[in-house]
Amino acid sequence: MKKVVKFGGSSLASAEQFKKVGNIIRSDEGRRYVIPSAPGKRFDKDTKVTDMLYACYEKAENGEDFSGELSAIEARYQEIIDGLELSMTLKPDFEVIARDFREKKGRDYAASRGEYLNGRIMAEYLGYEFIDAAQVIFFDENGSFLADLTNERLSARLKSVERAVIPGFYGSRTDGTICTFSRGGSDVTGSIVAKAIYADMYENWTDVSGFLVTDPRIIENPAVIETITYRELRELSYMGATVLHEDAIFPVRREGIPINIRNTNRPEDRGTLIVESTCRKPRFTITGIAGKKGFAALNIEKDMMNSEIGFGRKVLQVFEENQVAFEHMPSGIDTMTIFVHQSEFEEHEQNIMAGIHRAVEPDSLELEADLALVAVVGRGMKSNRGIAGRIFSALAHANINIKMIDQGSSELNIIIGVRNEDFENAIKAIYDIFVTAQL
Ligand code: ASP
Repeated sequence: MKKVVKFGGSSLASAEQFKKVGNIIRSDEGRRYVIPSAPGKRFDKDTKVTDMLYACYEKAENGEDFSGELSAIEARYQEIIDGLELSMTLKPDFEVIARDFREKKGRDYAASRGEYLNGRIMAEYLGYEFIDAAQVIFFDENGSFLADLTNERLSARLKSVERAVIPGFYGSRTDGTICTFSRGGSDVTGSIVAKAIYADMYENWTDVSGFLVTDPRIIENPAVIETITYRELRELSYMGATVLHEDAIFPVRREGIPINIRNTNRPEDRGTLIVESTCRKPRFTITGIAGKKGFAALNIEKDMMNSEIGFGRKVLQVFEENQVAFEHMPSGIDTMTIFVHQSEFEEHEQNIMAGIHRAVEPDSLELEADLALVAVVGRGMKSNRGIAGRIFSALAHANINIKMIDQGSSELNIIIGVRNEDFENAIKAIYDIFVTAQL
């Protein structure tokens, strides 16, 4: 068994957390490749080391004194080293970092030191080899990830390495300078390493026991999703559910490597398994509910629209010319509605409306703002009758007016448009009928 194990910032925020991580790794022989994040928050109001590094570097870039900030970062690591009773020192590393900051080696370089130093400690603590991500993960000069080159070098490098720690979040450009993924990018590193070694499993350890059926800010203590497919996950994360970096899915998905989201603070929980496809029936008829506020809908009406060839293309071209992406496009016989993100649309709204008047001469053009979309996602919906009916009656009982309904032909999700102010209640009503009622 070969497993890649990635630990998020809160799992590595203190010596105590490191010890939990050590126990987890030692309890399974297969946990051979470890991807650490930088130390995260130890308590609610604490600051992540990555944020401390960004702030410190900003001072360096402005030519201000940054020694206080850098010492505070050094103290975070020293606290971990002392708590683990390791004999190593990071003093020389911090001297190099201070020099590099003065030489303005870049924001990405600055942020990457969080993972680099945590990786050094982790390797020492576990007795694993340390592999600098700069030597095995590559980006082009524009910061785009070079998947093929990375996979080739990484798999060659790891071929003869039994156990290693590879820091997450960064790599190097072809000119040797450091480049990072976007925030939360250690998830992506883990996935890339899992692909390179043909791992049997990519375990992603965090501070929750997996994906929740819905947002815990709306439903207290929601149920955990036991198994989810990559496609379902994509639908839910597009709609705002976050646990895993979006780009972490692609490398492993193509190889059919499952991802297991686990909780460092509750290792006995099985977490969520993310797989390509599964025969396992979802625990509830639906897999998850997610959603977002802040949409606007442009409603276009024109008699005989249905027989006017090219109508849709002309309308969408106006959006394209204004560089506004559309999210959904439900249509009737002589009507068509375009859902857009309100914040992106607002700036261009008058140009778009004028453009549509010119392009298709509609009978009426109406704009409705402050809408929310709720997505009910689940592979189990396909084989079940009456799901849409149950959703609509739940919303009717909760006195919620439905503005739009969109069911993809994959039958994997049903998207419902409601007013922003009905958003939370809509999610509660759907959760109650599919989950609470089935518990
Ligand atoms: N430390 C980085 C961040 O805070 C990357 C990560 O944790 O995945 O975004």
